Amino acid sequence: MPPKRVHRTDQYIPLESFDLHDKPKAALISLVRNQEIDGIEMSMRQLEARFNHKHNYPWIFFNDVPFDDDFKARTQNLTASECQYVHIPKEHWSLPHWVDQERFAASLEYLGAIGVGKGWMISYRHMCRWNSGFFYKHPILDDYDYYWRVEPDVHFFCDLEYDPFAFMAENGLKYGFNMNILDDARSFPSLWRQTKEFMAEYPDLIHPDADLSWLRDPRNSQEYNNCQFFSNFEIGSLDFFRSSTYNAYFDFVDRKGGFFYERFGDAPLHTLAIALFMAKNETHFFRDIGYQHDINRQCPANLADKCSCEPTNLDDNFYKLVPMESRQRKPDDTCIRLWLGGE
Ligand code: GDP
Ligand code: MN
Repeated sequence: MPPKRVHRTDQYIPLESFDLHDKPKAALISLVRNQEIDGIEMSMRQLEARFNHKHNYPWIFFNDVPFDDDFKARTQNLTASECQYVHIPKEHWSLPHWVDQERFAASLEYLGAIGVGKGWMISYRHMCRWNSGFFYKHPILDDYDYYWRVEPDVHFFCDLEYDPFAFMAENGLKYGFNMNILDDARSFPSLWRQTKEFMAEYPDLIHPDADLSWLRDPRNSQEYNNCQFFSNFEIGSLDFFRSSTYNAYFDFVDRKGGFFYERFGDAPLHTLAIALFMAKNETHFFRDIGYQHDINRQCPANLADKCSCEPTNLDDNFYKLVPMESRQRKPDDTCIRLWLGGE
């Protein structure tokens, strides 16, 4: 039986409607520091209560230093699922030999001075690069097909009465998001130019059903409008990231040093790659998953009895709380509307 297409739905989908014989091979993954234990406890407690206690997907924690015993004990204590703790290999979290250290130091100083968020932090550059090009390379994920990325200090507000991994598998979906943002464009000034170079050099790698229209700005010569999937929440296909196509793009961009000479985020990188190398209908807006990261929140209006948050609407999503300074990161429902394409 071909998979059912229920793309772009915000309707409640009962678990029984799925015809999956095998549970998806999926894991909850989190890059987190030992000192963020309180924050990851909060995220875990909510995701376990809202979803995972019924499914027991394993948790896999990643860290650039070894996890301490307190972190391991407290996280394992919050779930009946297996927890695994990964010390990221050095080669996944260090300066590549082709990066000019002086230019990197100048970028840290410059982005710090002009106030690009976390622009001065060395660790942030490694974090963005790891989330862009390394998380899926770790052999611990070899046996898995899907991941759900979870950060410390996030909220999950709604009881999830279906399995989003099964939903992805059943519908042939490869990437699920929950919020969009415009990040500070000064953190990736040359990413779009590099992406256009890649497109020109490797036209055959672009998916025949790729749709970049929602990412192009008609008021600015169809250049990138900087819309991004807010990647602290993502439910994705590991095969997509493991593909030679995605890795050709990551390597192309990585070689030019933008994670270090600029502050390329994994959010714009993932977004552009997904738009280029996936059909649009392989992506999904999980608008029914109530979620919050910092001040950015998505709370579905039609599931009030299952959620503990005030519904957000697509037009008022925190514009009032965030200064409209266009260069600053802000939640942007315009991007969601563009993605929805007039839905
Ligand atoms: P933001 O959401 O863009 O402000 O970035 P965060 O500071 O929240 O970092 C994103 C994720 O990476 C969070 O899950 C952090 O816990 C994690 N993270 C960031 N830097 C490091 C680091 O140096 N080491 C480890 N282990 N985790 C990090
Ligand atoms: Mn964060």
